[in-house]
Amino acid sequence: MSVKDCIFCDIVAGKASAHVLYEDDLSLCILDIHPYTKGHCLVISKRHVPWWHELSEDENASLFKVARTMATRMMQKIEPDFVFLYARGRRIPHTHLFLIPTFSGDVLDRFFNALENFQESPAALVKLREPAAMAEAAEILKGD
Ligand SMILES: [Zn+2]
Repeated sequence: MSVKDCIFCDIVAGKASAHVLYEDDLSLCILDIHPYTKGHCLVISKRHVPWWHELSEDENASLFKVARTMATRMMQKIEPDFVFLYARGRRIPHTHLFLIPTFSGDVLDRFFNALENFQESPAALVKLREPAAMAEAAEILKGD
């Protein structure tokens, strides 16, 4: 995807509409049009750069400074449990940080709890294969 057909470049240039919440010289914070929660924002670089780690140091500083300003604002105005931040960029290759007010039990909280359970499950499954555990399971299910 080039600058020419990039929605974030269009927003930066004022050619596409967005709810712009905050900006500085190098970065812009907008509402995500597909929110996970109320107040889900994106912090985007004003320059078309696919990955956040390819930005200049000044652009990186700006990106995270804007994210910090907005996270503080979210904590004050929305009062979530915490503000979740991640950068992926698989769908739109223009640097954007996801900034998501997160409450216990909401869709993102459930998703990451599931991911953490998945991360922890191999150890639990290995325990089930141990001879003593297998013998115990067999004992429970054996007929009289
Ligand atoms: Zn772009």
